[in-house]
Amino acid sequence: MNTDRVEVSKEVAEFIAARIAGYESECPEMYRWLVPHIKKHRILPLLVGWTETVGILASGEIRKFSADGSHSEYEALRPVEEPVLLLGALVQGARDYPDLKALVPERQSSATECTVCGGSGVIENHPKLICECGGVGWVEESAV
Ligand SMILES: [Zn+2]
Repeated sequence: MNTDRVEVSKEVAEFIAARIAGYESECPEMYRWLVPHIKKHRILPLLVGWTETVGILASGEIRKFSADGSHSEYEALRPVEEPVLLLGALVQGARDYPDLKALVPERQSSATECTVCGGSGVIENHPKLICECGGVGWVEESAV
């Protein structure tokens, strides 16, 4: 799986750029601490974690950055290597921004239902955890 970037249409690229530009005024109060990071990295956060946040650039590149309150373990954007993080970010992004739904990969006929979440994409009693399938509810045969 290509975890470097996803294909974005011109419309989606403009949507992402607009959300980045407007992040300071649009972001939920609980994510206000991310604003300086968003301004610095020009990235739209999709999956906000305790120490790292995964986001998308207007170009479609998927990157992560360290944002642990006022502390950061590293400064620059880093590539995302784990497919589960990429999928988790795209799934969460589609929930927060319906305009980004098209970025979630479609289930291929070779995929099998995720046995951890039973295809729901959510781990029962642990809605905040990312399932092994990244939240799509299926896994590719080759990834098993
Ligand atoms: Zn699952």
